[in-house]
Amino acid sequence: MRDGERPASGAALRTQLIAACRELTRRGLTHGTSGNVSARCDARRFLISPSGMDYETLQADDVPLMDLEGRWFGARRPSSEWRFHRDIFRSRPEVDAIVHTHSPHATALACTGRGIPAFHYMVAIAGGVDVRCAAYHTFGTQELSQAALAALQGRKACLLANHGVIATGRDLQSALALAGEVENLARQYSVALSLGGVTLLDEAEMARVLEKFRNYGQQDAVDPDLLFGGAEPDAARGS
Ligand SMILES: [Zn+2]
Repeated sequence: MRDGERPASGAALRTQLIAACRELTRRGLTHGTSGNVSARCDARRFLISPSGMDYETLQADDVPLMDLEGRWFGARRPSSEWRFHRDIFRSRPEVDAIVHTHSPHATALACTGRGIPAFHYMVAIAGGVDVRCAAYHTFGTQELSQAALAALQGRKACLLANHGVIATGRDLQSALALAGEVENLARQYSVALSLGGVTLLDEAEMARVLEKFRNYGQQDAVDPDLLFGGAEPDAARGS
């Protein structure tokens, strides 16, 4: 949580979290009940989507509340992935929302053990020169959480080998948008790999891009037109 900002109240945040869960399905980022979403309530607690429930029928009371010790409160069990949600909130004070998906292209890439290198400047949207892929561990385990935290070091998103994606943000909208952006990058990179001969941007160029992102103060934005004010000739996505 940043200074001077307060998170939404419990009731409003529950509504926002349910809306974010439904958006995952609407944007094609998840299928069925896979994927999960969380949002920080205050310094000690966060809301998280419940385990195995249909997002369309979710009600506010179905959303479990958890504390950073891992205790949960409410009628429903939290997502089986509560450990990495808790551990990210514990170790990353700037993160107020987390989205986890099994979005198709990012997951396919993660099944080859690949992360996303600097094949396109928009990779910088995840905070660095690449999106790492965390080592495989069984879902729901502390080992998976540790691997995810390592892959997220200095980044806002990572892939999980043979599993999916984690995207973080300062609020649910930015985490959701980043999850969509990572899926888009993974799709583009997969196509580029299939064509062969992918060229990567070098570190100096990525440093310039990261600096531009910072200077525009839109690190959590995902629209290149917002990032570059439409002034860059190659600002359109996919160019
Ligand atoms: Zn998962």
